[in-house]
Amino acid sequence: MLVTNNIDEIRQARWADPTASWGLVPTMGALHAGHLSLAERAVSENDKACATIFVNPTQFAPTDDLDKYPRTLQHDLDTFESAGIDLVFTPTPDIMYPAGFGTRVLVDGITDKLEGEYRPGHFDGVTQVVTKLFNIVQPTRAYFGQKDAQQTVVLKKMVRDLNFNLDLIVCPTVREADGLAMSSRNRYLTMTQRANAPVLHAALQRAADMIVEEGVRNAEKVRQAIRKMINQTPEAKLIYASVASGVTLDELEKIHGEILISLAVRLGETRLIDNLMLKDVE
Ligand code: AMP
Repeated sequence: MLVTNNIDEIRQARWADPTASWGLVPTMGALHAGHLSLAERAVSENDKACATIFVNPTQFAPTDDLDKYPRTLQHDLDTFESAGIDLVFTPTPDIMYPAGFGTRVLVDGITDKLEGEYRPGHFDGVTQVVTKLFNIVQPTRAYFGQKDAQQTVVLKKMVRDLNFNLDLIVCPTVREADGLAMSSRNRYLTMTQRANAPVLHAALQRAADMIVEEGVRNAEKVRQAIRKMINQTPEAKLIYASVASGVTLDELEKIHGEILISLAVRLGETRLIDNLMLKDVE
């Protein structure tokens, strides 16, 4: 496995055999089984696979946890190697954003909703860095997790709007046995917070049951049920509970079509997100 922070070396490796298909797995490191599932899929579906590890400063607000974001480089490289990854790109901020850098990629509308409302500018940083990674690696397929549902919707729109020549593949959320979605931030939870954290998935599951099993079509009723479950949980502070169109991300009144149920919760200092997507609700 080649590990490099050099863009020319990435290009050389990528184009050594122009007929080879390449999978790309962008990450911020601190790898867990969710990242591993993306890497394994990229390896299995392509001739070659490239992963990237870069904690991208432009997607963090000044008040965010950039400085204390976990960094576990050797463990991450071992994990990618065991998954069969061929190439790992590990740039520094200076390599990605050298002096004089000044180009942004803005996706209209859907970047202001949900996460975007609470993390202004976050998705502008994501589209900026992912555009660069797409142009550096020029993958055949790029792999992202459903865990970050809005990110997948935003990036799919960017790929469509800007004619990126690749398939964007969304992989299912990998969870702990008790339902908690795996996240690099879970390590910050105290034992009590960790014990309470499965309530995010439980609330989403309750919402899905209301819609699918009980036939509830009033979205506000579903949002209320989520709020109630989170508010009953010690140390949990709900940031938002959403029942939205999976296409436009607009909050719904009446549930119909492709539905994204999502929430953000603060457990102590740690901000967690999770979601469930329902297709074709009649
Ligand atoms: P991050 O390192 O947090 O930027 O995540 C890198 C990629 O892994 C993103 O596409 C995430 O959506 C994906 N990912 C993170 N957590 C999970 C998970 N629990 N299951 C599946 N994919 C995940």
